[in-house]
This record gives sequence, structure tokens and C-alpha cells, in this order.
Amino acid sequence: MGTVHFELTGGVAVLRLDNPPVNSLGVEMRGLIAASLARAESDPNVGAVILIGSGKGLSGGADIREFGTPKASAEPNLRTLLQLVEDCSKPVIVAIDGICMGGGLELSLACHYRVAHVSARVGLPEVKIGLLPGAGGTQRLPRVVGLETAVNMIVSGAPVEAEKLKATALFDKVTDGDLLSAALELARQIIAEKRPLKRVRDLRVEMPNAEAFLQFARNTVKAVAGPYPAPLACIESIAAALGPFDAGIKRERELFAGLMVSPESLALRHVFQAERGASHIVGVPDSTPTRPVQKIGVIGAGTMGGGITMTFINAGLPVVLLETTQEALDRGLANIRRNYQGALRKGTLNEASLEKRLGLITPTLQYEPLRDADLIIEAVFESLEVKKQVFEKLDGIAKPGAILASNTSALNLDTIAQFTRRPSDVIGLHFFSPANVMRLLEVVRGAKTSAEVLATAMRLAKKVGKVAVVSGVCDGFIGNRMVARYGNAANDLIMAGALPAQVDAALEKFGMAMGPFRMSDLAGLDIGLAVRKRRAAEFPGRDFSEVADVLCEAGRFGQKTSAGWYRYQAGSRTAIPDPEVTAMIEKYRAQKGLTPRKVSDTEIVERCIYALVNEGARIVEEGIAQRSSDVDIVYLNGYGFPAYRGGPMFYADQVGLGEVARTLRRIAAAAKADAAFWTPAPLLARLAQEGGTFSESKGSSS
Ligand code: NAD
Repeated sequence: MGTVHFELTGGVAVLRLDNPPVNSLGVEMRGLIAASLARAESDPNVGAVILIGSGKGLSGGADIREFGTPKASAEPNLRTLLQLVEDCSKPVIVAIDGICMGGGLELSLACHYRVAHVSARVGLPEVKIGLLPGAGGTQRLPRVVGLETAVNMIVSGAPVEAEKLKATALFDKVTDGDLLSAALELARQIIAEKRPLKRVRDLRVEMPNAEAFLQFARNTVKAVAGPYPAPLACIESIAAALGPFDAGIKRERELFAGLMVSPESLALRHVFQAERGASHIVGVPDSTPTRPVQKIGVIGAGTMGGGITMTFINAGLPVVLLETTQEALDRGLANIRRNYQGALRKGTLNEASLEKRLGLITPTLQYEPLRDADLIIEAVFESLEVKKQVFEKLDGIAKPGAILASNTSALNLDTIAQFTRRPSDVIGLHFFSPANVMRLLEVVRGAKTSAEVLATAMRLAKKVGKVAVVSGVCDGFIGNRMVARYGNAANDLIMAGALPAQVDAALEKFGMAMGPFRMSDLAGLDIGLAVRKRRAAEFPGRDFSEVADVLCEAGRFGQKTSAGWYRYQAGSRTAIPDPEVTAMIEKYRAQKGLTPRKVSDTEIVERCIYALVNEGARIVEEGIAQRSSDVDIVYLNGYGFPAYRGGPMFYADQVGLGEVARTLRRIAAAAKADAAFWTPAPLLARLAQEGGTFSESKGSSS
């Protein structure tokens, strides 16, 4: 639980917020601030009050875990607290450094005077969770920084450095020295000069052509906000700041209340919490010691090895990059350099920084330079035999305590771990392609992976900007296991009578970044072909053939051959429906004795998304994923699921698990051979019967 330290310094009461990690303003903290304020107000020795933070700054804002619970409105709620501050009979000066976000900035705006350190970062990020600043932020900020800056800050949610706002009425003083000394100096001046209690609410927003500007802002936001209602609501609320303060506050409340229950905000808040929840590992306390990771080794400079190397050098970590031949090494290094060209063109990277980054790579054909690496990641061909050679070599050379990781997509990590005499140091780090771009990292926990190794991987992932999710060992881990089901469902729809373009369009309308057939063309149809061949070898006698095989036989491997489920013009990624593919599908259906029927867009979405949900439920039930919200994080960050729907499991919760289970049973009843695939997973069936949700069921983080 947090505290508010109270210290009296020469007639000034200094109230220091102390609620790690970000001094969030949960109900206990609000109560403590209110009590300290009352104490200062009633103490005749106090002439002024300073509010200041500790640790990371003043405050990161409201405690999001309270949203939608009675705690959020429990007294003193944020608005009551702000009223107490604004109405305080003694001057309240806020001293801002570090972060000052959301409710933290709204609290500051209710103070009579504001002092900031130049490096402080202030912002109202509520829009990022589908809300608007609901404690006066949309009314007070425009009154001190002007309409245009307020719109930019509130609609983008991006933090701004105090230095950039020092010319505005947001700050009475911006210092590059000691913050508390600057605040105390101002407090004493205020007391000595008997300065009035300045209230932001009393200011007016002055802007000629304000209405024209707002209309321009509305048009711009409408064009980019997509399905999100919050950005436009932010503008409507800010517009109310042109009128009387109390009416503006009322309008802000109405708009805020509407957003609070919007499906988009519920989903975004779920995602926010789920991301934080994913970093906690079941059975591994947060206090688990981690190993220092200062030097990385990467084996294989192909597609993945190159991207993985970039991930680490971008974070300033040196990488030893090993290949089998000079030619492969040179090609890998040239690819890495080429991948930075875009950043150079855009100006987000300059030549000098690029050379500095590339200078962190030690290319090698020998294992020797890996001796002192703290973490070695293997990204060689997907062959157990090749992985065996590599891990046996690594076992012989890596220092004790080095973490040995595999980027395998589908091989059994426990088998790989057995190639070494230190299986507890072996872990899966399943990066997604392009590894330097995709945020998702599946951290694969082998049967023997130690807690320390897991904790180290999670910490490192965060350091290099990845969202890490722990997965158990199974074919495809969390993401690829689910996408395989999604692909099966899409294939079934083609067999039933739909065409690739209809399936893609329906799912893209649902919000997926890319439909399954466009995605398959991008990834390459050879990937699925290899999986089907592997399965056919594993399960002799079973038929894994699909119409995709016919496309592959015709040399249609996707974008790289300018033909796959669609055709592509040279140099273009635009998918053009191809009558040749339609003919192939029709012929294939006829060979299988299938009569095509009309397939609705609703059916497409239900089958594809519920296939994901059903497999996700099995994954949670088997303990492969630790919680349903982890499944959401994987799908959101690795497969283009729309954030405003919160991930497949959260979406299913919103639809209602009873409805999802009923639909699955209906599909299963008509599915014949695939009935087991469509039958609701036991966890889903149980929750549906109990009227429960994945989010509330055991193990979910939100
Ligand atoms: P790739 O063929 O592009 O690269 C593999 C590289 O490893 C080649 O440059 C090859 O010369 C090198 N190599 C082979 N044997 C080696 C050895 N004994 N020592 C050193 N280098 C060796 O393959 P990729 O797509 O980068 O895949 C690598 C691994 O990552 C595979 O296990 C794959 O399943 C996995 N993976 C791939 C993707 C993807 O989308 N491509 C995504 C996630 C994981």
C-alpha cells in the first residue's frame, strides 16, 4: 500500500506521494492525499502546500484495475479530490518531474500553481484505452495550453516534455535544477506576496476561428479513427471547453460515461491489463533472480537469425553471428544492412548510428567467440538433425550458466534440450517474422527449463521491446497451433462454396489485418505444404491433402512467385482474384464430390474466429498457455487480430460463451469427419454452462 509523506519545511507542507511503481491514484492514495491536504489546511503553521512525487515521477494516473469496479467511484473519487485541491484555502503547488500522466496531470491542473522539471513528461493517454480524460482534463488543459495543443495531446495521448510547454500557462516555472527547491522558492514567494489562488477553471480558451479549427480536427480524426469512438469524443469534449466550465465538465462526464462502457474501451483496457499480466509466470515468483545478459550469440544468419540480431543490436547489445559458410554470412550481413535502408530513408536512423549498430555484430564461422556469450539463440534450418549438431556443439563450448535458446517453430523443445547436458538452461525463444519488427515473442518453457532462465528471458524480452508470452511445449506453441485451426476453417469454407476473396473480405471487415488467404500468400504456401507433408509422414494412412497442394503443384507459392491464392503484378503486393484459382477450386470440389453452396459472411466469421476460440480454450485447459488473456496477447501481437475486439478469447466472452458453444455444436453436428474439431472444448463447454467467461475463469490476468 502507498503512503503520502507529510513534512513541514518553513511554513510549507510538502506532501510526497509514495506508491510504487508509478504513484497511481487508487482509492487508498486518493484518501491519503485528501487527509494530508486537510491536515495542512487546518494547521495554522502551514502557509502553502506542495504536492510532489517520488520514484518515477509525480503520478502515472488512475489505477486502471479500479475501472469498472466500485473502487473507481469510491470517495474520495478523483473528481472529489480535485475539487478539494482546487477549493483549498491555502495555495497548492504541484512539483512535477518524471511522468505525470492522465489523472496525475488532471490533479496537477487542479492545483493553483505548477512547477516542473524540464525533463518531466506530461500527457493525457486515456484515448489509448478508448477513453477521454474524465476528471476535467479536457476542460482545464485547453485553458492553459490552448485549443490546438490540447487537441493534439488529448487525441494522440502522447506525452510531451515539459521543456516544450514552458511558454504556456501550464507551468508557472520550469527548472533544470532541483525540483523541490524550485517549488519551495515559489511557495515562499506566494506566501510573502500573498498571491491569489489561481484556478485554471477561471481562465477562458481564447482562439480566433475556434469553430473552424474544431471542424478541421473532427474531419481529420474521423478519417483515421477507424472503429474507435474515443478520439472524436475527445474533440467533442474539448469543444465544450469554449463555454462555461461547469457545463463543460458535465459534457465531459457524459462522454466519458459513454466511452467507459463501449466495447472498444473494454477491449483496449483488457489488452492493457493482459499485456502486463503476461509478464507474470505461473510458479515463478516475480522475485526470482535473473542472470545478466550482456552478450548474445545468434546461430544462423537467415531470415530469422538476421531479424533476431537486429533486435539485439537495436537495443545496444553486442551479437556474435555464426554461419556455416562465408557466403551465407555475407548474405546475412547484407540483408541486415538492407533492412535498415527504410529507416535511413525515413530519417529515423542516420548513417553514423547505423554503423554503430552494425559494429556491434561480430560475424564468425567459428564457435570460439561464443564462449563468453550469456545467451545463444539458434535460428538454423528447421531440422532436428541440424539442431542436434548445433546444440551438442553449444553444450561443449558455452560457459556455465549461458542460456541456450532455440527459435524452432514446431520441433519439440524437450527433445532439443536433451541434446545438451544442461536442459535446465535450454529455452525456446520463438520470434515472429520479421523478428526486428514483430512485437510478439513466445517464450517456450521446456519440461526442465529453470525458473531463473525463464525469468531472465522475460526480463530481456521487455528490455528489447518485445511482448513476451510463456508457452508450454506443443506442436505450434500457442499462436501457430491456433492459426492452423483458423486455416483449416478457412479451407473448409472454400470447400463449402466460398472463394478466397470472400473469406478474406469477411474477416478483414471483422477487423483482421489480413484475411487467411492473403496471409498465406504473404507467408508462402510452401510453409503449409511442408507441415502437411510432415503430418502425412507422422500419421501414415491419413489424408492431409488440400486444394492448396494443387496450387503448389502449379508453382503458385504466393507473393514470391507472383501467384498463389491470388495473382500479383510484378513489384506489387495487391492481391488480384484469379479465375484460374477459381477453376482449380471448382475442379477440386468436383473431384471430392462436393456440391458448393452459398456461404454467408456471418458464417465465415463464426467458423474462423470460433475455431480460434475453441483451440485457444484447449490450449488454456492443457496449461500450454497460462491464462486466456495470454492467448489474446499472442493473437493480437502476432496475427493481426483487431485490438478493439480484445483478442479471440475476450471477443468470445463478449459474444457470450453460451452462444459460441451453441454455434460450435451446430457446426459439429453437420461436420461429420471434423466433428471432434468443432465440438466445444471442455473448458468452453463448462464455462458456457455455468454462464462464465474466460476472463473471469481461473488463471486469467484481467
Ligand atoms: P533460413 O533458411 O532463412 O535461415 C537458416 C540459416 O541457418 C541459413 O542462413 C543457414 O545457412 C544457416 N544454417 C544452417 N545450418 C547451420 C548450422 N549448422 N550452423 C550455422 N548456421 C546454419 O530459415 P529461417 O526462416 O530463418 O528459420 C530459422 C529457424 O527459425 C527455423 O527453426 C524456423 O522454423 C524458425 N522460425 C522461422 C520463422 C519464419 O517465419 N521464417 C518464424 C519463426 C521461427
